Amino acid sequence: MGTANRIVIVGGGFAGFHAAKALVKAVPEDTEVVLVNKTDYFLYLPLLPQVSAASLDPRRVAVSLTKTLPKVRLALGTADKLAVDRREVTYTDPEGGSHVLGYDRLLLAAGSVNKLLPIPGVGAHAHGFRGIGEALYLRDHVIRQIELAAATDDPALKAARCTFVVVGAGYTGTEVAAQGPPFTAAVAGRNRALQGQKIRWLLLDVAPKVLPELDPRLSKAADKLLRKRGVEVLMGTSVEEATAEGVRLTNGEFVRTRTLAWCVGVRPDPLTDATGLATERGRIVVDATMAVPGHPEIFACGDCAAVPDLTRPGELTAMTAQHAMRQGKLAGKNIAATLGHGQIAQYKHHDLGFVVDLGGLAAAANPLGIPLSGLPAAAVTRGYHLAAMPGNRTRTLIDWGVDAVFGRQTVQLGLVRGDDVPLDTERPA
Ligand SMILES: Cc1cc2nc3c(=O)[nH]c(=O)nc-3n(C[C@H](O)[C@H](O)[C@H](O)COP(=O)(O)OP(=O)(O)OC[C@H]3O[C@@H](n4cnc5c(N)ncnc54)[C@H](O)[C@@H]3O)c2cc1C
Repeated sequence: MGTANRIVIVGGGFAGFHAAKALVKAVPEDTEVVLVNKTDYFLYLPLLPQVSAASLDPRRVAVSLTKTLPKVRLALGTADKLAVDRREVTYTDPEGGSHVLGYDRLLLAAGSVNKLLPIPGVGAHAHGFRGIGEALYLRDHVIRQIELAAATDDPALKAARCTFVVVGAGYTGTEVAAQGPPFTAAVAGRNRALQGQKIRWLLLDVAPKVLPELDPRLSKAADKLLRKRGVEVLMGTSVEEATAEGVRLTNGEFVRTRTLAWCVGVRPDPLTDATGLATERGRIVVDATMAVPGHPEIFACGDCAAVPDLTRPGELTAMTAQHAMRQGKLAGKNIAATLGHGQIAQYKHHDLGFVVDLGGLAAAANPLGIPLSGLPAAAVTRGYHLAAMPGNRTRTLIDWGVDAVFGRQTVQLGLVRGDDVPLDTERPA
């Protein structure tokens, strides 16, 4: 049977981190809070595009879990089995050791993974954008393409290497594409052989506009900035086939390229299926308090949970950091309430706006519904990120300052190979 006084949280991202933080404040010292997470850091995903554009050191977006959550026990590993009847979670540590953890209360906050679409060649030739490995791979790959382009005399190959295709115009793809041109211009600018060479960035999406799910004013501001930077914004367009030589678009054009960044969105972490709990659109079914129906000892929140959106009846909350953070905080408090500490409450959260970092001093933001662009948006966006990061704030601020004065460091470290970061994260690397 489960161990009394032990609360296990699976996933130390936005939801799990904030739940753990709320829990240790709400429960007595003799209640053990254990966090099972694949890494020993909380990953601040919204700044990952800056890592791939070489303007932020990868360690800035990796916030130590043990440093920021000193009262929480970190169980480093991947949860793979849940025995609901025995109240046990099994996880595998990074060296293959299997461990069983009994629990009194369980919070599932395993987030999401790359969404795959059955398009020929995409699994083999595209790379996703979910973690530090992928961001570093993209950073090095882009630098390598420019450097190899400078070294070849074949104009067709040069052009292919200088063409970068990003699929998905949600916040991830839009940020990656917006940060791309200044990044490649910085690398190419140091290569005399590339003087006058056209560098193409393409952003594709089947949706009719960029940032389709956000305020139309944000979408317009981002679209304008992308075009100003020379990004070819191809809406209503996707990839029909990907090959080693390039991609065939749904408009019939074949684009010769060596780079296909796949930012088409996410699906809940596969752990959701492995739990055997009921799901809706792949996310674990929960009520508005984030408890799993029929299992008052299990809660779920963040991207992996189908949390009803009480501000839009009939809808689920969007998969965003803003929701995950707030849900995590409340789920932590609600779990404590089921143990007799505090009151249980329903999750109801009105959107407070969105920020989109477009690189350099460009951004689009609508804090509290007020549309901003240009410098004010950049200031709000960076301020928001610094406030939302649970650590590494000063180092991040210093990095931004150093980058603004000296420009970005554009060298490949070559530590991550393409095979290390398959698009299908379920496929063994
Ligand atoms: C590149 C990128 C940029 C983004 N930018 C924004 C943005 O600007 N604004 C915004 O609102 N949203 C943004 N998002 C979305 C936002 O990051 C997610 O909605 C948010 O991270 C969801 O939080 P979560 O806690 O549910 O999942 P996550 O933050 O993904 O955390 C899940 C955690 O669970 C761990 N985990 C997964 N499976 C297991 C397992 N089986 N066992 C143990 N641990 C496990 C993972 O390692 C991870 O630490 C972005 C997403 C990406 C990918």
